Amino acid sequence: MIIKLILIINSILNFTPLSESLNNEKISLLVIYKTGGFIHKEGIEAGKKLFDLICNEKNYDCVISNESTYVNSKFLENIKVIVFLNTSGDILNNNEKIAMESFIRNGGGFIGIHSATDTEYGWEWYGKLVGAYFMNHPDIQKATIITEKKHHFLTDHLKDRWSIKDEWYNFKNFNPDINVLLSLKETSYEGGENGDYHPISWYHEFEGGRSFYTGLGHVAETYKDSRFVKMIEKAILYTSSLTTK
Ligand SMILES: [Zn+2]
Repeated sequence: MIIKLILIINSILNFTPLSESLNNEKISLLVIYKTGGFIHKEGIEAGKKLFDLICNEKNYDCVISNESTYVNSKFLENIKVIVFLNTSGDILNNNEKIAMESFIRNGGGFIGIHSATDTEYGWEWYGKLVGAYFMNHPDIQKATIITEKKHHFLTDHLKDRWSIKDEWYNFKNFNPDINVLLSLKETSYEGGENGDYHPISWYHEFEGGRSFYTGLGHVAETYKDSRFVKMIEKAILYTSSLTTK
């Protein structure tokens, strides 16, 4: 009896802690770039190359496609994060929407890039997941970005103030639960309409899953900018729930 008990205690002590077993799990991404509205030809091509590069370098399993049929419960069983790369308009049918909702509710991750906020306006759940909807934008130009979360894992590689050229979205219907990582300094460029509260990258926990969005990513150059690339690499870890915060 005592020997049996010792064996049981030993087997408990030798059991791999949850955090370690999670770290050993392979990251798998489904990158969707389907469009039902505006087509960001340049941003999609550059984004595909970036995800391809990251997946090869880090040995992640990645499917990069413009087919939304991958958004089904069977396929998503082996996926950690769904990325909407410059998607637009209505792209998912009802079954695909249900599959995506249960994926997030089961702890899945979501990354939205640029026009991911110009996607699925009629699907309220998605609006809350991505965190806001696109309203309009001025011409492409350089703007100053304020790093709001200087000590957060996702943005601690960035300077307090930095500038970059891209297409700057104005947003509507912000989800009040988003945590703002980066804001636009509207006085640094022409055409900002969100005023003092103009988030441009954010994250939040949503219905059991983790979401990250960045408004950057219209121009191809952004996908080669090391500051952006590093933030995306970190966003993959965050939304895969491999980081503590
Ligand atoms: Zn754009």
